[in-house]
Amino acid sequence: MSNNEDLFRKVIAHAKEYGFVFQSSEIYDGLSAVYDYGQNGVELKNNIRDYWWRSMVQHYENIVGIDSAIFMHPTIWKASGHVDAFSDPMIDNKDSKKRYRADVLVEDYVAKLEAKIQKEVTKAAKRFGDTFDEGKYLTTNPRVLGYREKIEKIKARLYKVMDDENLTDIRKLIEELEIACPVSGSRNWTEVRQFNLMFSTQFGSLSEDTSIIYLRPETAQGIFVNYLNVMKTGRMKIPFGIAQVGKAFRNEIVARQFIFRMREFEQMEMQFFVRPGEELKWFEYWKDQRLRWHYAMDIPKEKYRLYEHEKLAHYANAASDIEFEFPFGFKELEGIHSRTDFDLDAHQEYSGKKLQYFDPDLNKSYVPYVVETSIGLDRTFLAIISYGYKEEKLEDGSERVVMCIAPFLAPIKAAVLPLVNKDGLPEKAREIMDILKFDYMCQYEEKDSIGRRYRRQDAIGTPYCITVDHQTLEDNTVTIRERDSMKQDRIGIDKISNIIKERLKVNK
Ligand code: ATP
Repeated sequence: MSNNEDLFRKVIAHAKEYGFVFQSSEIYDGLSAVYDYGQNGVELKNNIRDYWWRSMVQHYENIVGIDSAIFMHPTIWKASGHVDAFSDPMIDNKDSKKRYRADVLVEDYVAKLEAKIQKEVTKAAKRFGDTFDEGKYLTTNPRVLGYREKIEKIKARLYKVMDDENLTDIRKLIEELEIACPVSGSRNWTEVRQFNLMFSTQFGSLSEDTSIIYLRPETAQGIFVNYLNVMKTGRMKIPFGIAQVGKAFRNEIVARQFIFRMREFEQMEMQFFVRPGEELKWFEYWKDQRLRWHYAMDIPKEKYRLYEHEKLAHYANAASDIEFEFPFGFKELEGIHSRTDFDLDAHQEYSGKKLQYFDPDLNKSYVPYVVETSIGLDRTFLAIISYGYKEEKLEDGSERVVMCIAPFLAPIKAAVLPLVNKDGLPEKAREIMDILKFDYMCQYEEKDSIGRRYRRQDAIGTPYCITVDHQTLEDNTVTIRERDSMKQDRIGIDKISNIIKERLKVNK
C-alpha cells in the first residue's frame, strides 16, 4: 500500500471514529456512495457552507441567494440537455457482474502507465544518486519515452471516441489494450451503453396524473429558471449573481473514493449574469476570486492547481477547474465555466417566456451571458479533512493526531475542561460554558485525564482548550491551550471570549 493510500485509509477511519462521516444505513450494510454526517461532521459542513455564503452573498452587494426546490418541471431537464446528454458510457464484466465507466477503465490504464514512468524515475534516482537529473531522464530515457508515446496515443483516441460518443470504438479500445476486470481478472465484457445519471421518480398521487420527474443533478437550473423573478423583484442590474446551496443527485456508475463521488451530494453554485462580450473578463475575475477563497482556509497554495479545459462542452466558451491534491492525486474540486447564453436561451425556447435584460446604458435588450462557479460542498469537506489530518511525534516521544482545520471552520471552537471532577471545579467550568456557549460551539468534558481530553479535542480540530483548576477558584484565571502549538497561557476568564473571536477571523 502506498503512503497516500495509507493516509486516505486513515482519514476515512478517523472521520468515522470521531463522528465526522458515517456510511449511510450502516447497520443494514450500507448504501453505496451515500454518506451521513455525524455530530462533528455536520458542524464542519455547516461552517463551510456558511463561509461560502458569507463570501458570495453577504460580501458581494450584487449577489443574492435563493433556495429552489429539488423537484422541478421535467421539461427543464430537456431544455438543459440533461435528458439527452447527461450520461456516461458504461460496461459490465460478465464474470464479476461489476459495472464500470468505460472511459474510466481506459483512464485507469493510463494511470498505470504513468505509475510505471514514476517507478523508472525512482529506480534511476537511486542508481545515479546526486548526479541524477530527473528532467533530462524524462526526456531522453527510451523506456520512459515509449510509455509517454503510448499514453499520448491512448489519450488522443479516448478524447476522440468520447467526443464522437462512439460506443463501439470505446469497446474496441478496451479490447485492444487488453484491459481486464480488476475483480474477476477476465476480459469478458458486455457492449458499451450510455447510462443517464439522473434519478427519476413518479410525481402525483393518482396513477393517471403520474409523470416521470427527476431529482435535480445540479442546482444551477433552479437559478436559471428563477432568473426573471430575482432580476425583477430584486431590481438587479447587470452584472449580478444568484447563488444557491443545495442537494444534487447523480446515479454515478463508479462510486468510490469516499465522499469524493457520491450519489447524493451538495453543491454551492453561483451564476453571474453579464453583458455579452464581457464574459471572459468576468471568467478571469471569478477564477481569481475563487482561488483566494480556497487559500483563505489555511491550506497551502501548492495543494491547488488550475486546469484549463482545452476540450469545451458545446455551451461553454471557456472552462477551468480548480483541482485539489487529494490523497489519490489532483482532482476537480470546483468548476468555473463561461456558459454563454446557452441555458437562458434554451429555457426561453422551451418555456416560450422571454428571459432578457433591458440594459439602460446600451438602450437595448439581450439574453445575458453567464459565468458560473460550481463547487461540491462534500468535496471541499474531504479536501479540508484530508489536508488537516496530521500525525505528530511530540518532544516527549508520544504521538498525537491533530486535525489542522482553520479555526473558523472547526466543529468545536473551545472545550471547557475542569482539571478534576470535584472541589467545585465542574461548577466553575459550567459558569464559563454559560458565558461562551451562545456565541461559540463549545464542549464541556470532565471524563478521563486532562491529557486524554486534550488529545480528543486535537483529533477533532478544536482550536482552544480551557482548563479550570484550583487557582481558577481563587483568582478567576484559567489556562488556555492552543491546538497547533500546544502552548498554554494563563488568562483571566473575561479575556477568553475575545481571544476566541480574534482567532476565528478569516485570513483574507
Ligand atoms: P466529475 O468530473 O468529478 O464527475 P463534474 O465535472 O461532473 O465532476 P460538475 O458537474 O462541474 O462536476 O459539478 C460541479 C462540482 O460538483 C464538482 O466540481 C464537484 O465538486 C461536485 N460534484 C459533482 N459530482 C459530484 C459527486 N458525484 N459527488 C460529490 N461531489 C460532486
